[in-house]
Amino acid sequence: MSDRPVRTRIAPSPTGMMHIGTARVALFNWLYARHAGGSYLLRIEDTDRERSTEAAVQVIFDGLNWLGLQPDEPPVFQFARADRHREVVVELEARGQAYRDYMLPEELEAERERARAEGRVVRSPWRDADPATWPDRPFAIRLKTPLEGETIVGDAIKGDVRFQNAGLDDLILLRSDGTPTYNLAVVVDDHDMGITHVIRGDDHLNNAARQTIIYRALDWEVPVWAHLPMIHGPDGAKLSKRHGSQAVSEFDDMGYLPETMRNYLAKLGWGHGDDEIFTDAQAISWFDIKDVVSAPARLDWAKLNHINNHYIREADPVRLAALVASILKSRDVVLRQGDEALIAHTLPFVRDGAKTTLELADAVLFVLRSRPLELPEKARAAMTDEMRCRLSRLRDALAKVGDWAVPDLEAAVRGFAESEAIGIGKFGPQLRAVLSGGAPAPDLAGAMTALGRDESLGRIDDALSLPA
Ligand code: GLU
Repeated sequence: MSDRPVRTRIAPSPTGMMHIGTARVALFNWLYARHAGGSYLLRIEDTDRERSTEAAVQVIFDGLNWLGLQPDEPPVFQFARADRHREVVVELEARGQAYRDYMLPEELEAERERARAEGRVVRSPWRDADPATWPDRPFAIRLKTPLEGETIVGDAIKGDVRFQNAGLDDLILLRSDGTPTYNLAVVVDDHDMGITHVIRGDDHLNNAARQTIIYRALDWEVPVWAHLPMIHGPDGAKLSKRHGSQAVSEFDDMGYLPETMRNYLAKLGWGHGDDEIFTDAQAISWFDIKDVVSAPARLDWAKLNHINNHYIREADPVRLAALVASILKSRDVVLRQGDEALIAHTLPFVRDGAKTTLELADAVLFVLRSRPLELPEKARAAMTDEMRCRLSRLRDALAKVGDWAVPDLEAAVRGFAESEAIGIGKFGPQLRAVLSGGAPAPDLAGAMTALGRDESLGRIDDALSLPA
């Protein structure tokens, strides 16, 4: 292998969505480039003009930005490089590695049928034609694939994968309308971008054989190939619509954090022993292509949730509050000034059990309600005279709490239960309903700490002043 500086890339085709498999390919390229101190690049394969709209390209940028996997250099756009692709085809022809194929569509069709009947690949009669016999009509340019021997794709994950050359037809490099074909464009672009390692999904393994032949025909150095196994659904079948979400944006919408996705996707096909949770820095230092397994990886929602819960607990509350606020806004919850700070203050009390930021958004709602809160039916019914008097005494006890924080509030609630010689169960649920208006809320001390002294006592006062 050469000692060129490591350069990896992802080369997504804009389709309007960024598949989770593309995100994993991006991650592995990013990890390897970072691990090797190299660069990680992006090429937009936008040769399908119908699908490659500006919006579809933006989806890829947005996906990578969200994942934190922005490329190290400005993106390369494949379609814009068509002249360069044609130039390389001219060079291949000059080297005797490509030829003009004048077969007419009906001739090609007939040859296809013969080839099928004879169990061989299509061969053009123009492969070794004398230029003097060239007709005056449009032609395609085909690669002169070796007729014998084999092409070995030395894959860093799968090992040597052998292709019999006799089974490979002469690939069209340039169509008769002058447009370059996919495999040619990929090779030229990867070469010109200085790509040393091509890490991508194993649906491209066959292309790697074609591409290797093109590299050789040009005397260009063949990159290291690494074809990743596909991602399968929890049931072991290839990931498809029926398994639910596949787009990166959907994972964002479902409330997963980008660092969760990096950690989780790294574990799909690669891992470091049994480590469930690791930082980017650890993944970068440990990652090596040769440790990627060749068996398909299975999406496991329970693991994903577990990892997300970890990062939700670790995240800076201010950042998390901004995320939660935007979720609430998307649900038409009107936020007042200061509410985002209130959310940040509340998050530490509600986030332990949260699997997603959507759950966090549900969990902070209680604190955002405006006084006077409406009591749920059950709590209204429970507001007997006895309960009212008890809550009133509890309110007085709470008002005396010096440090309005979990330890003192817990002690106050416990002390009150003792002084009344009753269990907390006799008034706890009612206090909770009064504090939250029936919305999900953390335990009493957590809820009161989140609400603060004035708001907590105020909500109790409101409930006490409700007509009997
Ligand atoms: N454009 C191809 C795709 O989206 C990737 C090509 C490659 O990585 O070589 O599947």
